[in-house]
Amino acid sequence: MKYSLLNRGDDLSRQLSDTFHKLAADSGMIKDEECPDTIVSIGGDGTMLHAFHSHLHVLDQVSFVGVHTGHLGFYADWKANELDELVRRMSSPTSEMKIVRYPIAEIELVSKAGTETFYALNEFTMRGDDGKTLVAKININRESFEMFRGDGICISTPSGSTAYNKSLQGALIHPSIEALQIAEIASINNRVYRTLGSSMILPNHHLCDIIPREDQKLQLSADHLNIQRDDVLSIRCKVSPLKVNFARYRPFPFWNRVRAAFIGDQSE
Ligand code: NAP
Ligand code: MN
Repeated sequence: MKYSLLNRGDDLSRQLSDTFHKLAADSGMIKDEECPDTIVSIGGDGTMLHAFHSHLHVLDQVSFVGVHTGHLGFYADWKANELDELVRRMSSPTSEMKIVRYPIAEIELVSKAGTETFYALNEFTMRGDDGKTLVAKININRESFEMFRGDGICISTPSGSTAYNKSLQGALIHPSIEALQIAEIASINNRVYRTLGSSMILPNHHLCDIIPREDQKLQLSADHLNIQRDDVLSIRCKVSPLKVNFARYRPFPFWNRVRAAFIGDQSE
């Protein structure tokens, strides 16, 4: 078992990383930054987003495990006081580890400079920059759907549906469903501008193209990464043929995470 570890950089996460390395060495696990099988992320969901983006080139060869040092995370489901249990399960040849595979979003950005590909574990967003609204044509499966005017568009994955998408009143989607959700960010609706208003869920192989009005300054994001561009001709969003692997050493069903994160314990 070869692993590498990434932490959020705060005191507790750094301290837990040291503890993890010691426990792992005692259990015969090999620390391998170059070619790990498993990536351990210690911190929060944001730390997992970093871990994901630093391993895009080897996504099919690695699986991720998350430890949270703050509140319960969607990608970080082991608690700080469970490290020895986690190491025991990771190093045991007989542990009943399951790999769960979650869909991710693939974004093809076409600009005057050519075509670039981005991936997102949570979501991709396009917004207007400089406090200006975004004006963009939306095509679904290459056919014109609507003209959008408003703050922006959020295209989220099922596992990202509990993040930004949820704040936009989007639905929560179980990550076993290969889909993308398109949610509006503060659309303007009046006699001139009209958008659907509801969020939409596209299945695998469907395409959503966003074609901003020419020469607009845009604010683009893929998860925690933000870029400004003024040369975008179009972006195409789809469910990626790639998936992300999470190593599950014990079950923690998605709906239980949803309840734990958003409802909490309610004794009757
Ligand atoms: P951040 O501003 O520190 O994160 C915002 C919050 O989103 C944190 O509490 C983070 O959890 C949580 N989060 C991340 N992924 C999640 C998921 N899949 N389900 C539920 N909650 C999740 O920035 P960050 O840590 O770099 O994370 C970037 C993410 O922030 C983006 O991908 C976007 O989803 C989210 N965001 C949300 C809003 C909004 O809701 N209005 C606006 C902008 C960005 P941790 O504390 O465990 O890291
Ligand atoms: Mn964060």
